[in-house]
Amino acid sequence: MRRLTYIGHSAFLIEKDWDSILIDPFITGNPSADFDYKKKRISHIVVTHAHLDHLGDAIAISKNTGAPIIAVVELAQYCARQGARTIGLNIGGCLKFNWGSLRFLGANHSSSNPDIEYGGPAASVLFDIDGTTIFHAGDSGLISEYSIIGEMYNPYYALLPIGGYYTMDINEAAMAAKMLYAMEIIPMHYNTFNNIKADVQSFKDKIEAQGQKCLPLKPNEYVEL
Ligand code: ZN
Repeated sequence: MRRLTYIGHSAFLIEKDWDSILIDPFITGNPSADFDYKKKRISHIVVTHAHLDHLGDAIAISKNTGAPIIAVVELAQYCARQGARTIGLNIGGCLKFNWGSLRFLGANHSSSNPDIEYGGPAASVLFDIDGTTIFHAGDSGLISEYSIIGEMYNPYYALLPIGGYYTMDINEAAMAAKMLYAMEIIPMHYNTFNNIKADVQSFKDKIEAQGQKCLPLKPNEYVEL
């Protein structure tokens, strides 16, 4: 079984056979999330940056399951101080697992932990699940690096924030999708709060006008990888 499930906001679950990889698990306090991690065998938790709507429940889930948090070193150190298992990585770094690999890439965004300390650079993450590539942009603004990522890695799925205010908006995310050469675009980080409202139909129209597919997922909807 290979599946990508949208939990809500920027949180996703990748399942590959017996492994489940949680990304940016903002569940408690997330008005759109209805997800019980205890029903899954969580093997790894990947966090793009330290803001609470991304770090979310990562530390508690790590402590309860033993799954390590994979994050940029400064954020990993913070999580370790809270008692979580961690793997510290940095931008450009790649890790291989029995379910595939992940690589941390750039994002233009800030990152401070709940103690308002510097959380290291914010990251985006490229997953390779048995040849299916999934790019999670984190909370980035539009960056020229997307052209390089598109040329080098040609991600199949691109998970892009569209809510504006903290991240790209629908116009910038449509440009990012084009630069990434992705086949299918899944919007995220919108409508959770009042200041990140986005017109997802308008985004879908823009993506389709570029000849790409747009898959706005509702929480707990998934795609088979
Ligand atoms: Zn953020």
